[in-house]
Amino acid sequence: MTRMIDLRSDTVTRPTPEMRRVMFEAEVGDDVYHEDPTVNRLEEFAARMVGKEAAVFVPSGTMGNQMALRVHTRPGQELIVEDRSHVVLYEMGGSGVHSGLVTRTIPTTDGLLHWDAVKTRLRKGSDHNTGTGLIVVENTHNMAGGRVYPPDVLQEICDGARAAGIPVHMDGARIFNAAAYLNRPVAALTAGVDSVMFCLSKGLGAPVGSLLAGTREFVEKARLVRKLLGGGMRQAGILAAAGIVALEQSPGGLPADHANARMLADALAAMPGVKIDPTSVETNILVFSIAETGLSTAEFSAQLRGRGVLANGIDAAHMRMVTHYDVTRADCEQAVHAMEEILASARTTA
Ligand SMILES: *Cc1c(COP(=O)(O)O)cnc(C)c1O
Repeated sequence: MTRMIDLRSDTVTRPTPEMRRVMFEAEVGDDVYHEDPTVNRLEEFAARMVGKEAAVFVPSGTMGNQMALRVHTRPGQELIVEDRSHVVLYEMGGSGVHSGLVTRTIPTTDGLLHWDAVKTRLRKGSDHNTGTGLIVVENTHNMAGGRVYPPDVLQEICDGARAAGIPVHMDGARIFNAAAYLNRPVAALTAGVDSVMFCLSKGLGAPVGSLLAGTREFVEKARLVRKLLGGGMRQAGILAAAGIVALEQSPGGLPADHANARMLADALAAMPGVKIDPTSVETNILVFSIAETGLSTAEFSAQLRGRGVLANGIDAAHMRMVTHYDVTRADCEQAVHAMEEILASARTTA
């Protein structure tokens, strides 16, 4: 089989040879008894990187987010979150199922909440309502094309929420991409939030796993919810070992992924019928409209596949592409060439 250029997601990255080596050699124990030294090392390292007291290793980002929702809130409370957030769209309704929350979504064009919009939706709780329980910010914002919170916009939300006594959770699945874009340490981006989840298994390249970090008390409660959800793992040091390598070695490669995404965006902006603002492509995700090309995203994806490139539509009009270390600059140039061919033949047959 010829090798496909896989731009569907950064989750497709495979572990590096160094990750496989440390997995083979990892010292392990039973993590539900806190006895896996490699998991303990990963959790301490991760907590330090995001500037929190403690962290807990979880099988997926979805589980980490859902644990945070559950610990921060009581059933019946309201969750304030951007309209196209992962927590709303891609977690199987977990906020309702696991935590009994009512979701109050705020639509935006760039995926970023602003305090002015959040504050009008806050409710204190009274004889008639249970009030706001939590605000979730997604950084980078996946469906808005990998957008990064400007630090002052985020700070205003955190300051306002703290004054109102409402916790803020960051869905930081790709927080290392945000840090690379801003050229700041991750801890500078997470300082104001009460908890943060981030993924090891996306652009950082580890095979499995995410971390949820916060105060020691928060993380102790979150561990119990992890067990409730069936996420207590045993000799998970095998996985944590790869996670440590991911944290040590992978962030340095993210700027190259971002440059590749920008190159794709610049090329796409020049193609007839394609709509994208390249300056909005800050990290490794691009979302672009092909509505005016005459092709549906299903047709476009199928034609790309025929030319060795994998990418999916997020709806009938919008495609998403994600760069990562398993696609090179040459791969991205080949993808551009494939898209130019597809659009040229779409025009002649239209
Ligand atoms: C990928 C992702 C998650 C979690 O995904 P899992 O596949 O459950 O690990 C959460 N939030 C965002 C924004 C994501 O992109």
